[in-house]
Amino acid sequence: MTKRITIVGGGIIGLSCAWVMARSGWRVTLLDGAPEAREASWAAAGMLAPHHEAHAPGPLWRLGVDSLACWPGFVEDLGIAPAAVDLRLAGGLMPVFDDGDAAEVAARERFLSAHGIVARWLTPTDLRHHEPAIASDCAGALLLPGGQVNPRLVCTRLQAAASEAGATIRYHTPVTGSDDAGVHLANGEVIASDEVVLASGAWTPGLAALAGIDLPGEPVKGQMLRLRAPDGVLGRFVHCQHAYLVPRAGLGLVVGATMVTSGFDKSDDPRAIERLAAGARRLVPTLADAPIVEHWTGLRPRIAHGLPVIARIRPGLIVATGHFRNGVLLAPLTADLVRCIASNQLSPCDLAPFSCPGLPTV
Ligand SMILES: Cc1cc2nc3c(=O)[nH]c(=O)nc-3n(C[C@H](O)[C@H](O)[C@H](O)COP(=O)(O)OP(=O)(O)OC[C@H]3O[C@@H](n4cnc5c(N)ncnc54)[C@H](O)[C@@H]3O)c2cc1C
Repeated sequence: MTKRITIVGGGIIGLSCAWVMARSGWRVTLLDGAPEAREASWAAAGMLAPHHEAHAPGPLWRLGVDSLACWPGFVEDLGIAPAAVDLRLAGGLMPVFDDGDAAEVAARERFLSAHGIVARWLTPTDLRHHEPAIASDCAGALLLPGGQVNPRLVCTRLQAAASEAGATIRYHTPVTGSDDAGVHLANGEVIASDEVVLASGAWTPGLAALAGIDLPGEPVKGQMLRLRAPDGVLGRFVHCQHAYLVPRAGLGLVVGATMVTSGFDKSDDPRAIERLAAGARRLVPTLADAPIVEHWTGLRPRIAHGLPVIARIRPGLIVATGHFRNGVLLAPLTADLVRCIASNQLSPCDLAPFSCPGLPTV
């Protein structure tokens, strides 16, 4: 008999799981309270940047490296060209402007080379050749493997692909809890299934609490903006200590991001937006007059121990959340790991670090 799986949350994590599980022959229902994927996954810059994000080798870095390797096949399996989701794997830069940047870059280069990852130092002359728009007082930059994607386009494609593979996708459908009877909806409906996946981003700890599970975590607010700019101003993302710039085909450059812990508050701070824009213009002086065409806020799902939780925490209940700053990067591998957990198959990586803090994995 076909097994049923209900996924709560239709961001990039829930949608990736829905698509992968539907392709694997499960009867999938995905539920989301919002009209569409408009939370963290919609807000993200879309950097696929394990080496820029990690400061030391560890399970998160390893997971990121493995998930980065999944991206080309993930997009190919969606049946689309990389350009359809603006997938580029040209690496990302860490530029050096001062001693702090130089120390950060040197430490990064050491840890990566010790693990066989090739990072290339670009002298100011090399940099002019690769990225001529970067400010001329830049003392060089480290080019690290990585890439970028447009997460909004990815979510749209995943939703279509999951539906095509047979998944039932229901937005406008808030979940109010889950228990042995199934997943409870705000309209009183109860959906019974063999497995439930909580992939509700920053809201997962609240939903887990309703199921009697303590999952300590909190949202971390991020503000971002988009500057109008012609294609080609930058060929790849640039990641500095205080801001990053990511080119988006036909859409200019997205600039991020703040990190603020203020619960579920998504209000704007206009001064933070101005600071980010000033940082971007400092890095790329030709953006001096580039107007801000859009700005927005998203809530990153963070679990207290700083790692994602990808685990079955009770028979029939899997959690896939806490991807914090790296949920776009980690989506393909997370979906595959959820598939392995649900199907009781051996996973391709050690899942122990991604268990729920304080709870045994079942
Ligand atoms: C400003 C910013 C920049 C970022 N940049 C990057 C980046 O460059 N690279 C990267 O890899 N990551 C980045 N991230 C992180 C990434 O966006 C997140 O880790 C990822 O999107 C989390 O995906 P998710 O599906 O778990 O959560 P979300 O996208 O937040 O989706 C959760 C979904 O659950 C639904 N939901 C919640 N409660 C309920 C309920 N009770 N019933 C039904 N549905 C419910 C919500 O409506 C929502 O659609 C960034 C995040 C932010 C905020």
